[in-house]
Amino acid sequence: MAHYIFVAGGVMSSVGKGAATASIARILQDKGFSVSAVKIDPYINVDAGTMNPIEHGETFVTDDGTECDQDLGNYERFLNIDLSTENSITTGRVYQSVIQRERNLEFNGRCVEVVPDIPNEVIRRIERVAKKDKLDFVVIEIGGTVGEYQNLLFLEAARMMKLKYPKKVLFALVTYLPTIKTIGEMKTKPTQTSSRLLNESGIQADFILGRASVPLDEPRKRKISTFCSVDIKDVISAPDTDSIYKIPLNFETEGLGERILKKLKLRTKKKGGEDWKKLIKRIDDKNKKDIRIGIVGKYFESGGFSLTDSYISVIEAIKHSAWANNRNPVIEWISAETIEKDKNAVSILKNYDGIIVPGGFGSRGTEGKIKAIEYCRKNKIPFLGLCLGMQLAVIEFARNVCNIKDATSTEFEPSTKSPLIDLMEEQKEVMKNHKYGATMRLGSWDCEIKKGTISSRAYKQNSISERHRHRYEFNNKYLDLLTSKGLVIGGVNPKKNLVEIIELKDHPFFIAVQFHPELKSRPLNPHPLFKEFIKIAGK
Ligand code: GLN
Repeated sequence: MAHYIFVAGGVMSSVGKGAATASIARILQDKGFSVSAVKIDPYINVDAGTMNPIEHGETFVTDDGTECDQDLGNYERFLNIDLSTENSITTGRVYQSVIQRERNLEFNGRCVEVVPDIPNEVIRRIERVAKKDKLDFVVIEIGGTVGEYQNLLFLEAARMMKLKYPKKVLFALVTYLPTIKTIGEMKTKPTQTSSRLLNESGIQADFILGRASVPLDEPRKRKISTFCSVDIKDVISAPDTDSIYKIPLNFETEGLGERILKKLKLRTKKKGGEDWKKLIKRIDDKNKKDIRIGIVGKYFESGGFSLTDSYISVIEAIKHSAWANNRNPVIEWISAETIEKDKNAVSILKNYDGIIVPGGFGSRGTEGKIKAIEYCRKNKIPFLGLCLGMQLAVIEFARNVCNIKDATSTEFEPSTKSPLIDLMEEQKEVMKNHKYGATMRLGSWDCEIKKGTISSRAYKQNSISERHRHRYEFNNKYLDLLTSKGLVIGGVNPKKNLVEIIELKDHPFFIAVQFHPELKSRPLNPHPLFKEFIKIAGK
């Protein structure tokens, strides 16, 4: 029977609840248990697919095409497993299914109520994850912060689950301990208050994970222990780290894994974690030479925070491959709009070992990205285009090599005469009917790799499958013309005959893909395309 660990957050948001959840899951996995993680998001949106990246950060996509919170990306990266729609719960999805079941008379005509029917649906969904793969552990992250209205029903579900499985459920509260500069003392009061707020929901924390800029000292731990009714050994210090991948090791230094097992009367099944330790060693190796990667994108104007959040998987994928190539990743942002406005700005690209043009939506900044791609092509700078990055690389090639001066995408110019990138028929239908939710080309699609290409050198196999999230495609009407001028098709989806990869010959590394390889990169299993990109860029 599965065990469940709920992770809730106190004091404020963004204290690293997701990384804590992933890390707890990882240390249990390293003790030989089968583990998965679930994210509960309080929003009414059914999924994260319709949300603005500035507001929400990156939309992560699983193999089955679920558009979800970026925390699922962290779970996949830490656990090195593939998640699916079951691992993402939202208020929208929960209500949608309760209402649908009511319409189907599944409640036998009784009055369906917010409590207990909504929490019961949440419990049902969490149990389904455990049952599907006969897991030992499910670690569940409750979005939001204790004390707010939004996640009350999820805390209620957690409380009811403890009642249902008293010996199988634990609660961890992640809080933040501020240090007031002028006083120079780390304060525990907000943590005490958060713990009380959690008590108000009928939940007593088994663990308090104290996030702070520095480790918690003994007096701080004792205070938290006394006022929050938690054994001092279960007050876990979670100081800032220079890499989130170090958090599992920090937790283990504090003995978290063993404390969890002790409370649940379990024993380590199999000692593991050696590969994770090796990873941290590689990250910490100070002898690595820098590799400078520039990302030409937009969304910068709203501040660095939302930006890094919008491209988190790309950033992580670069890091994984840099470490695997024994390089120290230096990642910098280049504003596409600056390149667009300032004639000379594009030459900044020569300062980088490699350039990435990532995915995106809408026309803002696209002309700057096209200029950047042209510069990489002509100056033989290693270039990797992702999704929109491929579409723009096709447009650049059509304009500047094939002389189709007005080449563009119907996303930017719906009535263009030169739609190099266009909607497929089924997408036209979707758009006409305003059916925007979960209707992009999503999730894993097969791709056949062409022999003798950079792609086949990188992947070392003929058939791959990669995750997608887009509506527009390479327009096959232009295929013969572009290939006759030297464009190489590195991979095609066999069923729909869609171009998935384009490359250039006579260039050290110029490759652009319609999918999102970054979504499948893991620290212990870096993505082959990113690995090859970093390898060549390093030369
Ligand atoms: N906007 C483009 C499309 O919808 C690319 C999407 C992306 O980069 N994820 O096809």
